[in-house]
Amino acid sequence: MKPLVDIQNLSKHYRMGHGVVEALRNVSLKIYSGESVAMMGPSGSGKSTLMHLLGCLDKPTSGEYLLNGQNVASLSDAALAQLRASQIGFVFQSFNLIPQLDVYENVEVPFLYQNPCHPDYQTNILKSIDRVGLSHRLHHLPSELSGGEMQRVAIARALAINPLLVLADEPTGNLDSETGKQILGLFQELNEQGVTLLMVTHDPYVGEHCKRLVKMRDGHLVADLIQPKR
Ligand code: ADP
Ligand code: MG
Repeated sequence: MKPLVDIQNLSKHYRMGHGVVEALRNVSLKIYSGESVAMMGPSGSGKSTLMHLLGCLDKPTSGEYLLNGQNVASLSDAALAQLRASQIGFVFQSFNLIPQLDVYENVEVPFLYQNPCHPDYQTNILKSIDRVGLSHRLHHLPSELSGGEMQRVAIARALAINPLLVLADEPTGNLDSETGKQILGLFQELNEQGVTLLMVTHDPYVGEHCKRLVKMRDGHLVADLIQPKR
């Protein structure tokens, strides 16, 4: 089987004043469709940098990234924007909802970047809001929701496009531990339904409950473990 994500010797250097920060150093990783992968590592070890590269939000300094067999480096900025809008779902620690938009409208946002727009997009929006259990909150604003509900909206927004891959950067980082467990449970349920997931976490509980755990340190990928089933 062909990997969904295939990165080889990926490096990312940031210029800082007269120096250079080596945020990623020769990272290689393959992720197959249907996997759920947790990524752990100390602050500053390069996790977010790797997520940005995988999400085509930034370009590597060197190395290769094939997404679903396609070499991302060969794409124009416009093609990359299309790829992000149609194939990658993002979930962030701080939810990143638009405060003036209600639940439905927030989930609609990725479709505004798709051209042409998915023909069934309205049905997809309603379905994915239902998948995260928020059908009764369609016309509420983010300020009227709890943290856990806001993260559910962000997950619905990520899912509505039927992405190849969902990237979540510390999705439980701003939630209390009980709510965090519920969000993790939702991710596990979605993975069982076939959603491919890569999730950065500081929470060992989350790390233990993904099928696979990769660890970063100082820009290197230092461990890649298949976990016992729980
Ligand atoms: P993590 O998500 O594991 O905490 P990051 O990927 O955010 O780590 O950061 C890795 C390293 O790269 C850190 O040393 C950080 O300071 C540096 N870094 C990240 N983004 C930038 C940037 N835009 N400009 C300069 N340095 C950066
Ligand atoms: Mg980070």
